[in-house]
This record gives sequence, structure tokens and C-alpha cells, in this order.
Amino acid sequence: MNDAKLVLFDIDGTLLLSRGAGRRAMARTLEHMLGRSEGLNGLRMDGMTDPLIFRDAMRAMGYSEAEIAAPLPDIIRHYPGELARELAPSAPGPRPEPLPGVRQVLELLAERPDVVIALLTGNVEPGAWLKLHACRLDHFFTFGAFGNEGPERHKLPAVAVEKAREETGHHFAGQSIVIVGDTPHDIACGQHLGVVAVGTATGRYTPEELRAAGADVVLTGWHPPQEAVELLLGAPPSE
Ligand SMILES: [Mg+2]
Repeated sequence: MNDAKLVLFDIDGTLLLSRGAGRRAMARTLEHMLGRSEGLNGLRMDGMTDPLIFRDAMRAMGYSEAEIAAPLPDIIRHYPGELARELAPSAPGPRPEPLPGVRQVLELLAERPDVVIALLTGNVEPGAWLKLHACRLDHFFTFGAFGNEGPERHKLPAVAVEKAREETGHHFAGQSIVIVGDTPHDIACGQHLGVVAVGTATGRYTPEELRAAGADVVLTGWHPPQEAVELLLGAPPSE
């Protein structure tokens, strides 16, 4: 596994678009648990972890830290059920979909013996697998670091590295780790570990914004897939 790379993928806006399913499921969760959900209105969710989104929504509705801490575990437990309903083929909302080209990129990476791919996402783990399954991307992944293990995003890269060591026996460090995501939060979260940060301008942020956030490489999309893979794996060292 010398020269092997660990490539850690964000989910929303990077691998797929959930078309609002997460936001709708969070609103239904808060309605069920608290009888109100207006704190989610206007809340920026991209790059956030699910627990912090619920916390910020409750803060916006005037709940104290203690009033947030008490129900939060139950809220987080309730959410995947609502998300499953939103992602069901029979649900009325728009269907989630993988970003164009991403499936081919994952297939190319899966063929590489020197590449381990995993997840690094703000989604709580059950929510992550539900979204990936809805887009038929779940079989590419066996492990990852999830929003319930942070909840601050910058804590997640070390979690992913430790799980990769358990899975593969290889300790990935520094530039052998590639973190891929669509927001400045993704770019920033691994800087303290000296990772390669790849920004994908497939979400809300422009290439310029991702570069300004410190991205070593910026992709404007996953097409053509072979080129995207080369950029992912050949990203030059920062500095
Ligand atoms: Mg994202």
C-alpha cells in the first residue's frame, strides 16, 4: 500500500443532489418532535453536519442550549425515518440524483488497487446510506466518517483515517489523504492534517470561492470521468 491514497467524499452537492429531501425530512422531524420547524427557513445547510443544523434551527427558534441538548438525541434518531419517507420512490418531491459522471468516476477508482475510497460527510450515518442508496451509489462504499461522529466537521478526517486503518491496516497521512467536497467547510476540514483538498464546483460554490478557501485542485464537474480521476489522484502538494 505504499503510495496508496485514501479519497474521502462528501455526499450532498459532491456525489449527488438530494433535491431538498434532507431539508424536508428535517422539517418533518422538527414538526413531529417540537411542533414547529421555522428555524430551518433560510438556514444554510451545505457543508454543515446534521446535528449542527438541528442545533442552529432550534437556536433560531429561541431554544436555550439546555433545551436543545435534551431532545437532540431523539431528534437525530427520528430523522432517518422521515428521510427514508422523503427518498422513497413514491414520495411526491423531486427525486435525488447522482451528479453526472460520478458513477463512472467511482467505478474507475474502485478498479484501482492503490486507492481506498470512503465517505466524509455531515450526514448522520443512517441518512448518508439512505441518500446513497436512493442514487444507487451505496455499493461503492463500506465505511466513512459521519456527522454524528463530529459533530464539528474538522474532527471527521481523523475519524475516517482511523477507520481506514482498521479496514486496510494502512495508516494514511498527509498528502496521501484526498478530501473531496463542494463547500469551503470540506476544503478547510482537513487542513490541520495536511491533506490534499479537492473542491468540486458542483454545489453552491464557484471554482473561485473554492480556490479562495484553500482548495489544492478544483473540478467543475465529474466529466470527463478519466480526467476527473487524474485530477483527484494527481493533485499537487499544497505550498
Ligand atoms: Mg456537500
